[in-house]
Amino acid sequence: MADTLHVAYITPEMVPFAKTGGLADVSAAFPKALVRLGHRVTVVLPRYGSISPPPGKLAGPVPVSVDAVPRTAGFHRTRTDAGVEVVFVEHPPFFDRSGLYGWDDDGPRFAFLARSAVEYFRARGERPDVFHAHDWQTGLVPVYLKALYWDDATLRRTPSVFTIHNVAYQGQFAADTLGMLGLPRHLGNDFALGYHGGVSFLKGGTVFAELVSTVSPTYEREIQGEEHGLGFQDVLRTRGGDVVGVLNGVDYEIWDPRKDEQIARRYTAADLDGKRACKADLLRAFGLPGSPDLPVIGIISRLVWQKGFDIVAEAWWDLLRRPVRMIALGTGDVDVQAGLAELARRAPDRFAVRFAYDEGLAHRVVAGSDMFLMPSRSEPCGLTQMYAMRYGTVPIARSTGGLVDTVEPWDPVTGRGTGFRFDHADGTGLIWAIDRALDTRRDPAGWETLMRNGMARDHSWERSAREYVSLYRRAMSMA
Ligand code: ADP
Repeated sequence: MADTLHVAYITPEMVPFAKTGGLADVSAAFPKALVRLGHRVTVVLPRYGSISPPPGKLAGPVPVSVDAVPRTAGFHRTRTDAGVEVVFVEHPPFFDRSGLYGWDDDGPRFAFLARSAVEYFRARGERPDVFHAHDWQTGLVPVYLKALYWDDATLRRTPSVFTIHNVAYQGQFAADTLGMLGLPRHLGNDFALGYHGGVSFLKGGTVFAELVSTVSPTYEREIQGEEHGLGFQDVLRTRGGDVVGVLNGVDYEIWDPRKDEQIARRYTAADLDGKRACKADLLRAFGLPGSPDLPVIGIISRLVWQKGFDIVAEAWWDLLRRPVRMIALGTGDVDVQAGLAELARRAPDRFAVRFAYDEGLAHRVVAGSDMFLMPSRSEPCGLTQMYAMRYGTVPIARSTGGLVDTVEPWDPVTGRGTGFRFDHADGTGLIWAIDRALDTRRDPAGWETLMRNGMARDHSWERSAREYVSLYRRAMSMA
């Protein structure tokens, strides 16, 4: 078996081109780590309207059929400084629109992405060693490979790995979708893509890939049960030992206070002075009084129910009785936004919120806060708690998913641990953890140890990338 693999990495998001959440960060950092290990990676994603002008040279067009309309895909090819090949699928009727998802024709749009990605390699006469597809948007990659390309002269028996970054998004469409997508209609049965009377692209990827992964070991166990499986647990259970949890990693070239150019002053674990400047800068940016001693709890998140911000609202009056301030940066559901806006209105000198998507400001929140709050009901992996630790910002997190695998509870006796965790997804649980944090902070030496423990944690991609390489080899031996 060749030492160097060629991985076709199909994703709907990648930093810096298109991002709605953690998958975009992962799709930049993880391929980079694979290239550093000596492998070749071709990332394929749509050329959305926001990616303009499109980077790289245009190749194609290649006919790609996913409905009755004759369609062709063009391919802009480029290479990042880190040596990752990136291919943008060009098809303006589907992708030159505002936003990434949420259109009525998302089914054919992302079927087109999946099929174009496969056709790209076929047109070049190139067979990758493995396809790695991510989330429902690319769930049809393993399906097309098996249903239409298994005996193809170029792509014969190419295996695939499918990663579920969040089981809550299942890509469900009407039952008649498959016929339209050029797939055999019988794949709509319950042993294939059939799901609650329709079809699910997430199920397609899960059933047809050689191996399935998800983004942390705890989440892998959780989603096989009722509470976190959200109906998908039975599908996952059919795959038994073929489902594995591999923790996501962090790109420390982007998220490290030692070299971060987006923060007020850089700092290190040995010299934390810069962090005070970052805190002053953050308070100014959010218009809060500049008292340096009062701790600041930072939040950066998509504002959706899963992330637990109604728990913050529930705990609000108890929180106000504590010597803390809160700063939140996020976008999302109108209800969650309205709740947070109301809190900011009631206590303008204690709580400030910005409803925006702002990468630069996210770096300033991570660097300038003392604590970082993640009250998630469910958290597949979570990246921001790992960013926070590197910046000496102590996470306070609910015990779920990747938060369990990355935040080690502080133990004042041994001086070990990197943060605080609470089990109960309610106001009492949250306040309990915040009180632990505030108690600990009364001892400056202990607090600094805690900060430095987090800063010393290594969550870089290298180890996880090696784990994925063994998964790829296992998938190859199965095809
Ligand atoms: P999820 O993928 O569920 O949204 P993650 O913690 O895995 O959660 O990833 C979230 C990513 O999105 C992080 O990089 C975080 O900094 C970023 N992010 C979320 N909301 C915002 C925002 N309003 N502004 C800037 N970055 C944000």
